[in-house]
Amino acid sequence: MNNIYKRRKTREITIGSKRIGGNNPILVQSMTKNKFEQMDLLKDEIISLINSGCEIIRIAVTDSDSISHIRDLIREGFFENVPLVADIQFDCELAILALEAGAHCVRINPGNIGGPEKTKKIINKAKDLDSCIRIGVNSGSIDKKILNKFNNDCVSAMVESTLEYVRLFENMKFYNFKISAKASSVMDSIHVYKTLSEKINYPLHLGITEAGSKFAGAIKSSVGLGILLYEGIGDTIRVSLTDSSIYEVKAGYYILNSLNLRNYGIDIISCPTCGRTKSDLKAVAEEIERITANVAKPLKVAVMGCIVNGPGEAREADIGIAFGMKKAAVFVKGRILKRVEIEDVISEFTCELEKLI
Ligand code: SF4
Repeated sequence: MNNIYKRRKTREITIGSKRIGGNNPILVQSMTKNKFEQMDLLKDEIISLINSGCEIIRIAVTDSDSISHIRDLIREGFFENVPLVADIQFDCELAILALEAGAHCVRINPGNIGGPEKTKKIINKAKDLDSCIRIGVNSGSIDKKILNKFNNDCVSAMVESTLEYVRLFENMKFYNFKISAKASSVMDSIHVYKTLSEKINYPLHLGITEAGSKFAGAIKSSVGLGILLYEGIGDTIRVSLTDSSIYEVKAGYYILNSLNLRNYGIDIISCPTCGRTKSDLKAVAEEIERITANVAKPLKVAVMGCIVNGPGEAREADIGIAFGMKKAAVFVKGRILKRVEIEDVISEFTCELEKLI
């Protein structure tokens, strides 16, 4: 950990088996994409998310049928080690039913949950069951009255909407909650989260909402979340992508690992290739990425195209592959192990990886 980073102190809260805020690790979360009607696909997605390191899973709960589905999933043990957040929009009764069904947390949106009285009912239920609530403000669904009050200044309206709800929670003496205030604009998100972090000390769940496709969304999220995290702001993160939820988790860890805030999984260092590259380095790097997708142990792997920087980077890695003209040198923990034929690189890599994990 570098010493210029200073994490903002937040109140510690509990969500199922996990603690958030305080000195706890910044957690990576995601939201499922499959519907309850495609239960087999949804179950596969939940298992894949857990295998890829997802630490909190959110599921959209849209009607009373969803409630029996989440109850079944909980009973079948899917959320024994990874907490479930039921995402509720509009319907306060659904939030209460989701908590009764065993959801560890409900995400409610102040912009559409129906006002303070309905929110109080949810808070009382969460209190009774020792559950958690996420106040999830979103730039696309801010309360119109608050938006008008601030002349459509989205940042001020989001901050005000969040604080209004924080006061309500505090008045009810309920403190086991976290906050998200996501905008689709990176700059707005940064301003909202920075302002909130100066005013309150509840854990913040960071995200850029509706960030876009795999490529654009990962970049926007990296910039927005990266700036906030660097300033010590953020206790959990989600990278929202119009793509697989597994990519969301991977992107989340890449962001946290890049800032030395987590040390999770395989860090692949691969060169961009150039006119000196004699092998299909892209295919090798992608295959190594696929093979190592579910490895949680932090390891550095270098895949380099030629002798210019190849041996140097390969020596620095736990496993390094430096391609030459006709063969590739395999390094393990800084020492050259052997030179192998190009077509044997993947099998050699797999063999050495298995010894290390
Ligand atoms: S390591 Fe070699 S092949 Fe790769 S980009 Fe650098 S010079 Fe080109």
